Amino acid sequence: DKEYVGFATLPNQVHRKSVKKGFDFTLMVAGESGLGKSTLVNSLFLTDLYKDRKLLNAEERITQTVEITKHTVDIEEKGVKLKLTIVDTPGFGDAVNNTECWKSVADYIDQQFEQYFRDESGLNRKNIQDNRVHCCLYFISPFGHGLRPLDVEFMKALHEKVNIVPVLAKADTLTPGEVKKKKIKARQLDITGLLFFFARCDLYDHDIIPFAVIGSNTVVEAKGKRVRGRLYPWGIVEVENPAHCDFVKLRNMLVRTHMQDLKDVTRETHYENYRAQCIQSMTR
Ligand code: GDP
Ligand code: MG
Repeated sequence: DKEYVGFATLPNQVHRKSVKKGFDFTLMVAGESGLGKSTLVNSLFLTDLYKDRKLLNAEERITQTVEITKHTVDIEEKGVKLKLTIVDTPGFGDAVNNTECWKSVADYIDQQFEQYFRDESGLNRKNIQDNRVHCCLYFISPFGHGLRPLDVEFMKALHEKVNIVPVLAKADTLTPGEVKKKKIKARQLDITGLLFFFARCDLYDHDIIPFAVIGSNTVVEAKGKRVRGRLYPWGIVEVENPAHCDFVKLRNMLVRTHMQDLKDVTRETHYENYRAQCIQSMTR
């Protein structure tokens, strides 16, 4: 059985007419560096997006505040084409000065809205390249005690611009009990008025949030089967084993069940807000 991601179900999520054109989806990853963002994205879409990445030298890393990079891959599954864009925000949280480190991410999102707004008001509206960010996976460190002020600041600054889906990174470093506790702590953020994507679309079991994830780009042998996993002296953690983490639930949500919802909320809520603000400031 060939491994597959599951976006072949997209035609069921939207009108068949779109099938010929293909689909596009832009996913942003954010959070402290080293939390496994690149690894997870590769695991999610079974692609090696970063195979030709350049290693930054130490000096560059320090002077750099937030450098946003974009990778696009065309993937096809059962005749359904998906143009996937991954927006990576490396170095986030690394910079010496972390205050307002969300600023350049917010600016990036706004710039995509601005571009779309301009294209939409132009003459050729048929073939607009849509670079709007449909989803932002926000990585929460498994090593902290709950959310850090930086996490809260980031999500507060961004949740009205983009669908934020929080994930608890490197869940293999935590016991099931710790995972449960950290999830409860992270969800308390909702009380402070944050609207994660799920609160908006009202369709999902909230107890799963944040998704506890594990990423790996290596295939290991577990009980005679070759699986994506991480090999430890005491055993193997399997990325796609629901008993080990929420990876499959996250992928199903992103790809099979809610990709269209993520795009709809982006268009109907986040982009509309941006547009309204633009028009308001133009008429003032
Ligand atoms: P990024 O800076 O957030 O993009 O992090 P990377 O994907 O480059 O991963 C940083 C390091 O963490 C690498 O050595 C990965 O092998 C490791 N790593 C990635 N995902 C996981 C995970 O789920 N669990 C553990 N224990 N390590 C991981
Ligand atoms: Mg990375």
